[in-house]
Amino acid sequence: MNPFLISVPAAVIVTGGVAAYGAAYPRAQLFGSTVCRTNRPDKLAITFDDGPNPAITLKLLDLLAKHNARATFFLVGKFVRECPDLTREILARGHALGNHTDTHPNLFLCGPRKTEEELQRCADAIRQAAGVEPHWFRPPFGFRSPWLNGIVKRHGMQTAMWTLIPGDWRGKPVEWLIDRMNPIAEHARKKLPPGTGYGGGLTGDILCLHDGNHRHLNGDRARTVAALEYWLPRWSDLGLEFVTMDETLNKTVEA
Ligand SMILES: [Zn+2]
Repeated sequence: MNPFLISVPAAVIVTGGVAAYGAAYPRAQLFGSTVCRTNRPDKLAITFDDGPNPAITLKLLDLLAKHNARATFFLVGKFVRECPDLTREILARGHALGNHTDTHPNLFLCGPRKTEEELQRCADAIRQAAGVEPHWFRPPFGFRSPWLNGIVKRHGMQTAMWTLIPGDWRGKPVEWLIDRMNPIAEHARKKLPPGTGYGGGLTGDILCLHDGNHRHLNGDRARTVAALEYWLPRWSDLGLEFVTMDETLNKTVEA
C-alpha cells in the first residue's frame, strides 16, 4: 500500500476519484501548491502534529535539545488555549509554530466559511499564547479542498505536507515505528555519500510525526519519542541537519 495514503479512508479514495486525490495525496498540487520537501538533501524537517500535549511535548523538547534539533509543531487551537505555557515553551526552545486548525476537522468536508474560521481561531490562539503569527499550515488528516489554498495564503501561510508519514498514531510496537522511519536514513545514505558532498537539485525529507492525539489532551505518544531517541543520533551521524520549515529556504514546490 502506498504509505502516503495510510490515513485516508478507502471509501473516500474509491468514491471521490480525482477530487480525493487532490484532497489527500500529500504531493498532489490539484488544489494549489504545497511545500513537500526541503531544498537540500542534508536538511531534514521534522514536524509534529496534534499538540501541544502536556504528556509528551516537554520530553520531546528535551530530546530535541540534546541533539541540537529544531522542528515545526503544527498545533491544534483548542489545545493551545488549554496549554499556553507549553506553547510558549516550544517557541522559546527555537522551534516553529504551525497552524493545524482549531478543532481538527476534515477540511474536505468544510465549506469556505468554516475553513476560514478554523484557521483564524487557531492563529488567534497561537498569537494570544506566544505572540507570533504562524507561517505554516498543515491540514488535518492531510485533507485539502479547492478553497483551502486561497484562505491559507490570505492568512500569510504556506501549506506544508511531507515526504514520509510513518503512522505513529497506530498502536504498533516501537520497533515497527523505527522500521517505518528507515527511509530517512536510506535517502541520506544515497544522497550524502561520505566525503563527496551532494549533487545539485536534490531535496530533503519532511517527516510527519505526532506529539498529540487530536481527540484529547495527554494522548500517549511515548513510542514517537522512543523512535526519535533511536534515530536522532543515527541521522546526525549520516550528516543530516534538523531544521524548521522556516529553514527549508528556496521552498521546493513540486509541480
Ligand atoms: Zn492532525
